Amino acid sequence: MNRIAVYPGSFDPVTNGHIDIIERAAKIFDAVYVAVIRNPEKSPLFSIDERVGMLKASLKARKKIRIDSFDGLLVEYARAVKATSIIRGLRAVSDFDYEFQMALTNRRMDPSLETIFMMTDYKYSYLSSSLTKEIARLGGSFEGMVPPGVMRKLRSLKERGV
Ligand code: ADP
Repeated sequence: MNRIAVYPGSFDPVTNGHIDIIERAAKIFDAVYVAVIRNPEKSPLFSIDERVGMLKASLKARKKIRIDSFDGLLVEYARAVKATSIIRGLRAVSDFDYEFQMALTNRRMDPSLETIFMMTDYKYSYLSSSLTKEIARLGGSFEGMVPPGVMRKLRSLKERGV
């Protein structure tokens, strides 16, 4: 049986916390689709192509991992790629309410799709995409927080005056 999972998110930008979840999920599933949400309510800083590009550069040569993007309902995307599980990462208690609501909503729409939560590594428990963008704006160091390609991209933000 092919066990396929979808790991959806904004990935604006991808951090080492995301990479850790993706690599751990790839040990459990035959294929993991990292699916960048095209149209999230929060207006992203990076374009869809930039977000997909940063993920591809950070995860190249990983056979089980596919980078994709989607629009619309997650349950429909999951069905289209024949996924049976949705992966989400959990950091602090503050993640819980939103994740709980999303998981129950998705289950209501498709009971055959199971949401699986993976606990962050303690090294990344404080880390979020927003934090890296804030550090980039202030000109601080994000050593160890994001993959090298993302680091370059974040540094260029300051040069672009973003
Ligand atoms: P979304 O906008 O859908 O929350 P994100 O890109 O912020 O998208 O996050 C995607 C998923 O990764 C979420 O489940 C989030 O909780 C999880 N995540 C984000 N940062 C980390 C981290 N540092 N460690 C573990 N999981 C994380």
